[in-house]
Amino acid sequence: MADLGSPASGLSSSASVPIEIARSEASDLLSFISASPSPFHAVAEASRRLEHAGFSRVREADSWGVAPGRHYLVRGGSLIAWSGDPSAAAAGSGFRILGAHTDSPNLRIKPQPVAGDKTWRQLAVEVYGGALLNSWLDRDLGISGRIAVAIDDSIHSHLFRDDRPLLRIPQLAIHLDREINTQGLKLNPQLHMIPTWGVGHSNTTSFLNYLANAISVEPGDIVSWDLGLHDVNPGTISGLENEFVSSARLDNQLSCWAAVEAITANSAPTVSGGPLAVIALFDHEEVGSVSYSGAGSDLLGSTLERIVLAGGGDRGAFLQTLRRSWCVSADGAHATHPNYGERHEPNHHIALNAGPVIKHNSNERYATNAMTSGLFEMVCRSIDVPVQHFVSRSDMACGSTIGPMTASALGIATVDVGVAQLAMHSIREMCGALDPALFKRALTACLVTSLPTDNL
Ligand code: ZN
Repeated sequence: MADLGSPASGLSSSASVPIEIARSEASDLLSFISASPSPFHAVAEASRRLEHAGFSRVREADSWGVAPGRHYLVRGGSLIAWSGDPSAAAAGSGFRILGAHTDSPNLRIKPQPVAGDKTWRQLAVEVYGGALLNSWLDRDLGISGRIAVAIDDSIHSHLFRDDRPLLRIPQLAIHLDREINTQGLKLNPQLHMIPTWGVGHSNTTSFLNYLANAISVEPGDIVSWDLGLHDVNPGTISGLENEFVSSARLDNQLSCWAAVEAITANSAPTVSGGPLAVIALFDHEEVGSVSYSGAGSDLLGSTLERIVLAGGGDRGAFLQTLRRSWCVSADGAHATHPNYGERHEPNHHIALNAGPVIKHNSNERYATNAMTSGLFEMVCRSIDVPVQHFVSRSDMACGSTIGPMTASALGIATVDVGVAQLAMHSIREMCGALDPALFKRALTACLVTSLPTDNL
């Protein structure tokens, strides 16, 4: 196991990642997250990084004759990229897959957004996913996502972000809610989460005019939107000795970042004739993954099959190569909270800056099994990256992620892993500053491992 130093020494280098590298990796993570206030922006930023590393985009709607090399495709807020030789996959070499999700809980603007009375201008919003609603109070909020614009008899998607502090959801003063600190804060999402963005009369055209001005189209050209709110304050590296990362969307853009960095890290990410390296970044995990682009869709399966077909294989070759594949499903993991130790399994303490977390649940809320856990741990040992093992208390419900969905849909042996964090689903989450670099290193090694995966 790597020497992480004594707890009193703060942030120390891992044996495999010097501290200077870890800090610069954490800064790069914050750049990725800053560029990605919505799933559509996360996909755009991932695409930018992939293109920079020599990946070329293919369209699902076109026919493929995909040559060996580096390619990616986008479906809505989801992205799949791969690197290697399709004919090797068709010959049964298998896939090495990293999965993650691009979406995070937030507030989404309703189709009819006007709210407020004669004195307040407000925007009607809907809660997306399992947001910690209290964390959205008293924040400076911007708007981001995509706008559907009608141009020349067709619909165009317009990426949109406004980082000005436009919106705020003011908390009720304690003088008007005297029991809040003893009875707890109760928030009704319909009544209490409506942000203000001005004073005076609301009218039905004000929001459309704002959007139209911002993207230089006529208000009548805007037909719909997938827009949400985001915290305009950037993430930071924090703590007495810079031990922490404090940011929005660590769940799960940290894993998206690590996966993109892993597949772009090496100029020759797979040995000749070896397994294909694949990353799959899915939208809609926070709302159950059942959508046209989520992990519950055909996106990953159809892409893998088309890669095999492009490599000269048939359906039989596709099914064979699936059984030689494995998937590392990467998503946030719960660190043991210093103020709520009783909420955690006592024999599975999870620490920050102590390496990737392998997540276990015998009821298959996580897809990990003994073999896939063992394989991930062997890969990490080979690069001197420590691992931790998470399991929930037996009397508490366990979360889930995309791992079980991928495993059950495709029959690919899967391990669920992640970076330890606190405040999951808060607008501002927290993880260790060393862990992103360790996680990236682990995922990079998983993509190129030569360990056998046909026996999992
Ligand atoms: Zn997540």
